[in-house]
Amino acid sequence: MTEVLHYWIINVRIPNCFIDELLRERVVYSNITLQRDRLFPCHIEICNGKIKAIATASHTENLPNNLPIIDAKQGIIIPCFVDLHTHLDKGHMWERSPNLDGTFPGALKAVYRDGTEQNNWNYDDLYRRMEFGLKCSYAHGTRAIRTHLDCPPHQVDTSFQVFKELRDQWKEKLTLQAVSLVSLSYFETKEGEQFADAIADMGGIMGGIAHMSLDLDRYLDRIFSLAKERNLRLDFHTDENNHPESRTLYHIAKAALKHDFSSQIVCGHCCSLAVQDQQVVDETIAFVKEADIGIVSLPMCNLYLQDRVADRTPRWRGVTLVQELDSAGVRVALASDNCRDPFYGFGDHDLLQVFEMGTKICHLDTPYDNWIESVTSRPAALMELPNLGKVAIGQPADLILFKARSYSELLSRPQSDRLVFRNGIAIDTTLPDYCELDNLLHLGQ
Ligand SMILES: [Zn+2]
Repeated sequence: MTEVLHYWIINVRIPNCFIDELLRERVVYSNITLQRDRLFPCHIEICNGKIKAIATASHTENLPNNLPIIDAKQGIIIPCFVDLHTHLDKGHMWERSPNLDGTFPGALKAVYRDGTEQNNWNYDDLYRRMEFGLKCSYAHGTRAIRTHLDCPPHQVDTSFQVFKELRDQWKEKLTLQAVSLVSLSYFETKEGEQFADAIADMGGIMGGIAHMSLDLDRYLDRIFSLAKERNLRLDFHTDENNHPESRTLYHIAKAALKHDFSSQIVCGHCCSLAVQDQQVVDETIAFVKEADIGIVSLPMCNLYLQDRVADRTPRWRGVTLVQELDSAGVRVALASDNCRDPFYGFGDHDLLQVFEMGTKICHLDTPYDNWIESVTSRPAALMELPNLGKVAIGQPADLILFKARSYSELLSRPQSDRLVFRNGIAIDTTLPDYCELDNLLHLGQ
């Protein structure tokens, strides 16, 4: 018989938003850091891989003395991360196909050259680069990932096959979802309808890049109809630019209401919202709220690509109106987006880094409020994984424990010494060695 692992992690601080309201009310926050950062001081009992109890810090005397104890010394605990928007298929190709002018058109060209002209994205190349991304994500403490997959006709079979195999291979460690990434006009064609079937067959999510055009509403009508017929969710790239006239998010929200679409819709980027008139902004946000569209902001990629002009210092940060959307009651998540590819030359699939940079870029620190939900419970809900992104009794103990005791400490160091617990057991958080990909990237000695 295997021995049941049963222990306590004592002296931890959990963001209030993850704690049951009744439990929260029992604590008097005398400590200024706990008040300001909305952290709940407590102890966690873990038994057989699950959270068995959460005891308020004032009840230390009631802890049983016959169980092993980890003393967290006031360190913060959060649930494992959920990454709502990534591009695993493009990941880590930077050394082979960099984007040397750093612009959006430069990124498109570099990916086209690498994937289509040079035809590099064969089974082995894709599998290993995508798996490298999964290894990084897992080691940093991520529990679920949604990836967009480029779907030019010559690529789609290989990409879907690799995705399905990785989804299966990694299912104990990571829950994976895939979204198609095509131009919306593709769904108007005969092949587009078959493509919608293929997405449904592999259990994927329908998606694409929306551009402003006179045909946009017709494309959207088609996509919403195809998705509804197949009971598919939708996930769009919208308004990733600084053009005030770019309002695809508004058109998508209107289409969702017109079609009475009930499956979850997510829209990513939405950068142009930040450069539009207040009246236009208010109108769009009201429709987004009414259509219950989730918004995912990609702060690192936006900071990198938006407002980039040669020999000129950028003047805006590229992000959408996360605070205004949040205030209006729209669910706003933050996610990784691209990693070490032509759309973003850096990154390591670490949602702590996303949260850290997102906090600084979007000023989410005054106050911190519940923004930690943007990389945990909110993306989990938008991916329809309601049990993830929580610290709840009876749920698997999938947790990250930091040495940091406050948000300022948390967001000032990379927290490379964090402990990641999966089913109550601390995992190996060693990151994959970059040299694993050397022969794919033609990096000889
Ligand atoms: Zn993206």
